[in-house]
Amino acid sequence: MLENVNEKCAVVGIFNHKDASKLAYFGLHALQHRGQEAAGISSGDGKKLHTIKDRGLVSQVFNNDILENTLVGDMAIGHTRYSTAGDDSILDAQPVHANYDLGQLSIVHNGNLINANEVRNELIQKGAIFQSSMDTENLIHLIAKSNQRKLKDRIIDAVHKIKGAYSLVFLSRSKMFAMRDPNGFRPLSLGRVGEGYVVASETCAFDLIGAEYMREVEPGEMLIFEKDKAPQSIKVFEAEPKHCIFEYVYFARPDSNVFGQNVYKNRKQMGIELAKEHPVEADMIVPVPDGGIPSAIGYSQESGIPFEMGIMRNHYIGRTFIEPTQEMRDLKVKMKLSPITSLIKGKKIIVIDDSIVRGTTSRRIIRMLKEAGAEEVHMRISSPPTTDPCFYGVDTPDKDKLIAANMSNQEICEYIEADSLAYLSTDALMRSVDGEASSYCTACFTGDYIL
Ligand code: AMP
Repeated sequence: MLENVNEKCAVVGIFNHKDASKLAYFGLHALQHRGQEAAGISSGDGKKLHTIKDRGLVSQVFNNDILENTLVGDMAIGHTRYSTAGDDSILDAQPVHANYDLGQLSIVHNGNLINANEVRNELIQKGAIFQSSMDTENLIHLIAKSNQRKLKDRIIDAVHKIKGAYSLVFLSRSKMFAMRDPNGFRPLSLGRVGEGYVVASETCAFDLIGAEYMREVEPGEMLIFEKDKAPQSIKVFEAEPKHCIFEYVYFARPDSNVFGQNVYKNRKQMGIELAKEHPVEADMIVPVPDGGIPSAIGYSQESGIPFEMGIMRNHYIGRTFIEPTQEMRDLKVKMKLSPITSLIKGKKIIVIDDSIVRGTTSRRIIRMLKEAGAEEVHMRISSPPTTDPCFYGVDTPDKDKLIAANMSNQEICEYIEADSLAYLSTDALMRSVDGEASSYCTACFTGDYIL
């Protein structure tokens, strides 16, 4: 069984810049929230590709010596990886790199291929040998086996055989390619940096390296970057946008623009809509940091109830979600979040979070606030109940672990020990973002799968 190891990752590509690997490094640094498990960069100097990847944070994997003396050249691609617990093999870190008949190739991938097992089994039956459990390795084999002469045509061949979510960046000896699936599930933006170009999962990477945003890489589009030429665009598939709504709800950084819209603005609007749909009397609005902050500001402004940072977050703890056992998850929530008791005591509080998945975080937080003396705690969630797992690149547990798939609203409210619980409706969520509702994937909230 293939692991879903490319979910919730970040990709970056730098073309034609003398500090390519350093810019890729800073880009990955800005995108660290999309994956903390492993990081990697491949650079190209026109003759050879050089790859460094390892488990750990971006700042732990690279140092100045590596960036200056190993990852040389004026093009580079990079990746940060998020993966499910227990799967920590270095073989599953990216870029995926291979030597094949056309030379060298490195690939980075954000997304998840839904027909990966079928493709892999077929390849294995034809004699292919795999080194990792990553669906991205399928692409290397498909490209290596294609009868086409040019890499561009081989990539086009290969993406016709895969199904699912993919924002990809490829590096060959002399060129860089960017490619997005026809639905554009995961984001990918294009920018200019100096005389060169950058592609990245989110525009917060552009801001850090001083790049100028140009446009989105379109769903179904391939961009080819070649020396002394403007990027060439090829429409490989007709675009049928189904952008992941969860990027706006939780995943992307608020200062980023993804799918051409600012994340903070949309997230705050979700809070405004939530206040309209589910008002309740209280003394203060308290966000679950950091995810709940923008929507709590929106809720506060709409309701007129003061916003207070009643819960502090310890930033030196990793994400709680990725811990393997329930006991560890419980403990980590405690280590990560603590209440300001003097503020909370005797107060009626509205707590805002972006989502409830298993219910662990909400239950712990409400207990913590009650222990700190809160009189009432009303939970408000700035997205609809998460009822269905994502197969397109966001890490959600199986349906049997999703609390909203297995309990009624009232049961969840009792489980998390809240005085009341309410979620944003799907209609209000869609009102909070620009564009047609039909241009988004909402499968995690509706079960309406696209593929
Ligand atoms: P849970 O404790 O399982 O209910 O998870 C909900 C908490 O995890 C919320 O505070 C969310 O901000 C956060 N969250 C939601 N989805 C994810 C995800 N895919 N990966 C990591 N954290 C998440």
